[in-house]
Amino acid sequence: MEQTCANCQLSFEIEDEDIAFYDKVSPVLNKKKYPIPPPTHCPDCREQRRLAVNNEQFLYPSACDLCKEKTLTEHPPHAKQPIYCRNCWHGDKWDPRDYGRDFDFTRPFFDQWKELKRSSPSPALSIQGTVENCDYVHLTGDCKNCYLIMHADHNEDCYYGYGVKKCKSCVDVFNNFYCELNYDCIDCHSCYGLVGSRDCINSGPGAFLRDCVGCKDCFLCTGLRNKEYCFENEQLTQEEYRAKCAMADLGSFDIYKRCKARLRELELSHTFKAFQGHNLENCTGSQLYNCKNVQRSFDCDEVENGKFLYQIVLGAKDVYDAYQYGNNFQMSYENSICGLNGYNCYFCHETHYSNALFYGWYMESCKNCFGCANMHHMRYCILNKQYTKEEYEELVPRIIEHMQGTGEWGEFLPLTHILHGYNKTTANLHYPLAKEEAQAKGIPWDDYEPPSPEVKRVIPAAELPDNIADAPEDIMSCAIACELTGKLFIVTAAELKFYQMQKLPLPRRHWNQRHEDRFHARNPRRLWERTCATCAQTVQSSFSPERPEIVLCEDCYLKTVY
Ligand SMILES: [Zn+2]
Ligand SMILES: [Zn+2]
Ligand SMILES: [Zn+2]
Repeated sequence: MEQTCANCQLSFEIEDEDIAFYDKVSPVLNKKKYPIPPPTHCPDCREQRRLAVNNEQFLYPSACDLCKEKTLTEHPPHAKQPIYCRNCWHGDKWDPRDYGRDFDFTRPFFDQWKELKRSSPSPALSIQGTVENCDYVHLTGDCKNCYLIMHADHNEDCYYGYGVKKCKSCVDVFNNFYCELNYDCIDCHSCYGLVGSRDCINSGPGAFLRDCVGCKDCFLCTGLRNKEYCFENEQLTQEEYRAKCAMADLGSFDIYKRCKARLRELELSHTFKAFQGHNLENCTGSQLYNCKNVQRSFDCDEVENGKFLYQIVLGAKDVYDAYQYGNNFQMSYENSICGLNGYNCYFCHETHYSNALFYGWYMESCKNCFGCANMHHMRYCILNKQYTKEEYEELVPRIIEHMQGTGEWGEFLPLTHILHGYNKTTANLHYPLAKEEAQAKGIPWDDYEPPSPEVKRVIPAAELPDNIADAPEDIMSCAIACELTGKLFIVTAAELKFYQMQKLPLPRRHWNQRHEDRFHARNPRRLWERTCATCAQTVQSSFSPERPEIVLCEDCYLKTVY
């Protein structure tokens, strides 16, 4: 079925399997099925809405509104969003039902839901499980001694990363799983001691590798399998390799930068598989690992039966339309940052250990709630007001019917109703809008910048000594001004120790800029039709046709690497 997107007006396909899925997950209340309608927005516009509810990278100094303890939060001060620290939020000094209200059948649902979210206390940061010595992490669970990592679980001693799972001592990484001592790496799985590398599996130590599997002691190589002592893809003896590497002192910022540029040159003659993936059965997308029957999805690991998924990892099944995160997430549709044994979640943002939720907005361990916000351990609530099971089952169908009338049922929170400025959300990275464009459409924007850290002195990045060996003694009491944005950032003690031990240069860019640099180095989460450079067969590729890289179908690619 062809459909025209209500937002971008492009046409998109709704397939029979999609219709079957919407039917399969449609909720049943009082023995009556309430059908999930087919989407009115194309897959990209749906993903844009899911990303637009998330501020993952801009954190502001603040204080808990209950105990007054200092904290960081994703909510800027002018938002006037009440925030509680993790202890207070889970404590018994308040009840989220005190913010409950009657459903107003004369008004649209989304207005009422947003007002509730804004007035009820939100956790300052999104943290799950046991965290130890991690004051500056967000969207993170079960970590120890970590700093400024987001979408990160089960890590130790990791600093500055996004999509970091089960890693140890990794710094400046993007989508790294089961890795240790990686620095400046993108999309690496089960690697050890890699520097400046991308798309590697079971590799390391090594530096500036792209698309290498099972490689050890290699430097500036692409597309190798099970190799040792290779330099620019040339096989050397161990002695020759060591001698060559000794000349490349990566503690020097200048040498580091030149090696990175050299890898870009080498990549232009490398032949790439049309998409990145490993251990897949009947899947389309890119950066997929250990998946089965997963279509049009990106950055997923351990998923079965899903479509339009982005960064769903550590287990999910029968899920459509989700951004983040998984950890055993099932039978759900149109959610952003939901998981941890969740199922039957619909149009939710941030739900953990929860099921049978419609339009839940930060919910932990909840069940059978509709249009609630900032709650834990609740049942049968609507707009945070408590009902009996019978009342709930009588009222929810009436609300669904009301929302069918307003055109809200089956839609995720619209861009006009997001809490953060669009420019502070993850949507602006993937689907950038100009300020005027956003404002013309009634989408919030936010130019507020938090105050700079108070420091003894500011060192412009260009004035840092080239080599980490010559780092200024007072660096810890200084701030560095980002070479690109001028934004000030500090270097922590643990981080400095990492650079010194691993002989790596001090960063020249603000941590958020480094995150954006890694983001822009990756392929967009889209598929294009391309022609295999060897056999001319049409392939679905995450490399757009304008890109210079040589792209091959899987069969032709396998012939080049083995
Ligand atoms: Zn669209
Ligand atoms: Zn508190
Ligand atoms: Zn081919």
